[in-house]
Amino acid sequence: MTLVPIAPEITGHARDLLDFIDASPSPWHAVATIEKRLQDHGFQRLEEAQSWLLQAEGNYYVVRDQSSIVLFRIGSRPLAETGFRIVGAHTDSPGFRIKPRAPHRAETMLRLGVEIYGGPILATFTDRDLSLAGRVSLRSPSSPISKLVCFERALMRLPNLAIHMNRTVNEEGLKLNKQTELPLLLCNLEQALEPLDQFHALLATELACETEAIMSWELGVYDTQQGAFWGPAEEFLANSQLDNLASCHAALAALLVVENPPCTCLCAFFDHEEIGSQSAKGASGSFLPDMLERIAIALNVGAEAYKQALARSFLISADMAHAYQPNFPMGYEPEHKAVVNQGPVIKTNAGQRYSTLSVSEAEFIGWCEAAGVPYQRYAHRSDIPCGSTIGPITSARLGLRSVDVGNPMWAMHSIRESAGVLDHTYMTRALEQFFGG
Ligand SMILES: [Zn+2]
Repeated sequence: MTLVPIAPEITGHARDLLDFIDASPSPWHAVATIEKRLQDHGFQRLEEAQSWLLQAEGNYYVVRDQSSIVLFRIGSRPLAETGFRIVGAHTDSPGFRIKPRAPHRAETMLRLGVEIYGGPILATFTDRDLSLAGRVSLRSPSSPISKLVCFERALMRLPNLAIHMNRTVNEEGLKLNKQTELPLLLCNLEQALEPLDQFHALLATELACETEAIMSWELGVYDTQQGAFWGPAEEFLANSQLDNLASCHAALAALLVVENPPCTCLCAFFDHEEIGSQSAKGASGSFLPDMLERIAIALNVGAEAYKQALARSFLISADMAHAYQPNFPMGYEPEHKAVVNQGPVIKTNAGQRYSTLSVSEAEFIGWCEAAGVPYQRYAHRSDIPCGSTIGPITSARLGLRSVDVGNPMWAMHSIRESAGVLDHTYMTRALEQFFGG
């Protein structure tokens, strides 16, 4: 076997993706990670509750409720002539969330009751070094303040039942009752303390605050194992949350490097995609429409010219795609196998579960060709229901031309997903072409 070495800049870009995900164990942390990178690149934060003054060719971002973010660069040409160029993706991933009164006694142990967020593959959460990350609201003299928290060490676990008590697990698969069999083992009980008080004390220590200061929280479960390369040439990578932080990272990288974009370019990264996008900060909410309108107002673009701009705009909905896994051929449409490391996948669905149309597909092919990037086409099996993305929701709401694309990956919604090192650079270059054209 001869190994074709991968160019250092391609590996470096994939390494940066793994670091980006490792720094982002929850959607709130993902937005904080993105914000830090934007500040390093001189982007200015705007507040929705204040008036905006935008400079020609300026770089800005807006955060809504800590876990959705819109970042944009004002183009050199008039908005009405070019429209917006938008890449949409999502910051959330499926998994477990901690219930408000989660800590409880279970015989000799303190357990945390969990709620399922989106559609994770439950069995993949067993026997992992799990921890907690999210945000906590703390009492303060004026109004509550919301602080990020991440324990950064293995804190709790969902141990499998030994095969000696579950003899058919390999024949029947691991089935877990969502109410009774998912609570996470945290620690041995301390008889002197109520479970909730014990948990509050743990949180307070991590946040370096008084226990009484804790008012409420949203906490997610994450895997402390860091990202890794695999394969003889390290041509693959594995991490949590590739769906869809990989697309956020590619879009962010593309927006940061494009020089003097003629069009006003945006990235819109939404929370709540995995639970249907119906929220104030989700793709169905007002966040993106509000941001586009605010940009137009601040640039003194009139109502008529704003509508012209929308008509000229284009949305790339970037979300991960299903790579062919040869052990499970029955899962795939035989003529539409997406192969890892052979380029971004254009997703089509006649029922508009994906927003791609022939004309938007052709546009995306043009950007791939101009960037020298291969591309592939994907359609789901006709006898299995197809997933969806923010593409149809966002394009319907704003009347945008749109295409759904994504890099091929294995084990979507596992706590440990896997994808191709080359594809990440391919996608980034295609998005760069889109922003720069
Ligand atoms: Zn996704």
